[in-house]
Amino acid sequence: MDYKVNKVNPGDEFRICPSCGYRDGFHSMFRKEGGHMKWLFICPSCHNVFDIGYTAPSF
Ligand SMILES: [Zn+2]
Repeated sequence: MDYKVNKVNPGDEFRICPSCGYRDGFHSMFRKEGGHMKWLFICPSCHNVFDIGYTAPSF
């Protein structure tokens, strides 16, 4: 794993990057973790990875 996953509380909306302030949303990525798929979000501007507590429904 060559990146850091930043835990984030998204509140009512997760659109603006907490690291760089980019305002137009995120790319998605998925990573297997403890028998399920974590749904992670990558900022297209600064490329930080965020975990808002989502798990992909099925894989
Ligand atoms: Zn960013």
